Amino acid sequence: MDTKVLKIDENSLALSKEIIERGGAVAIPTETVYGLGANAFDTAAVERIFEIKGRPNDNPLIVHIHKDYDISTLVEDIPEYAKLLARAFLPGPLTMVYKSKGTVSKAVSCGLNTLAIRIPAHEGAQRFLKFVNLPIAAPSANVSKHVSPTTAEHVFADLNGKVELILDGGKSVGGIESTVLDCTGSTPVVLRSGLITREMIAKVAGECGEYVYKDGMRAISPGMKYKHYSPNCRTCLFNFDELDKAVKLYNYERANGVNAYFLCDDETAQKAKVEYVLNLGKDENEVAANLYSKLREGEKKSDLIIAVAPEKQDGVMVGVMNRLSKACR
Ligand code: AMP
Ligand code: MG
Repeated sequence: MDTKVLKIDENSLALSKEIIERGGAVAIPTETVYGLGANAFDTAAVERIFEIKGRPNDNPLIVHIHKDYDISTLVEDIPEYAKLLARAFLPGPLTMVYKSKGTVSKAVSCGLNTLAIRIPAHEGAQRFLKFVNLPIAAPSANVSKHVSPTTAEHVFADLNGKVELILDGGKSVGGIESTVLDCTGSTPVVLRSGLITREMIAKVAGECGEYVYKDGMRAISPGMKYKHYSPNCRTCLFNFDELDKAVKLYNYERANGVNAYFLCDDETAQKAKVEYVLNLGKDENEVAANLYSKLREGEKKSDLIIAVAPEKQDGVMVGVMNRLSKACR
């Protein structure tokens, strides 16, 4: 199969609609990462998404809709706090899990009676969703377990020959996947952290819990138990207070001919004074935006990525650390 990469215009949108309506998959930009989308009503199309990615078949997909889509046709029992959160943060990088009405294919939620809904803010994503006017089930557009894609080139590197069309909407500005929030209980619970932080949610909803998954537990959100975001090279991860140890390892590996690279924020890079660095940038939003492109750059350039965690561990860094620790496992 030939994979086209096209900028978003009337022609590429018309082609994307045709592909989606005949049960195919289209890669689309969003403000978090690129997604691989299919018609959520079409079981065969949804199953194809799992096949293309090599995604485990118990890891449910998020359904993406445009901002005027009638959500009440898909889910029910929307609590008051969820309406407040939607008003505050949508369209945006927040996925909300509700009780499903069972109108989309069962393959989307992998047998769960809930459905995860996201309204992306990315203008290109909104144009695509409006144009097809269907709920679109879309996981990240990478091969399962590999680093998520934040550019059309990243998608092409993973899925060339496996999808017909990649809509190119530029670099994803957010850089890490959406916050996933369970809205089926009396208070919201973060299932996956992201750019909309637990503190931001608590401010609007009054309170907000966080679900911490431990190996061996039954996962409420099955995605949390899988290895993820991994570059195709050796990796290791140090705490910010283990910088000396990390530099020692870097020097040792370099002396032995290993092409080792440091991966860290700008502040740590200044302190480490090593030559080969994948610099994630200065503040938490920059670090989130650069994380996946730097991991992908790292796997191309180096044999070993020595990651050092940023000193700041709250806010958006909760989501960054969640990805980084899975990438470097
Ligand atoms: P990805 O599509 O790769 O960004 O992953 C989607 C994430 O959303 C995974 O962590 C899933 O476990 C989670 N998710 C999707 N649907 C549901 C649902 N109905 N209930 C809980 N978590 C969900
Ligand atoms: Mg993913």
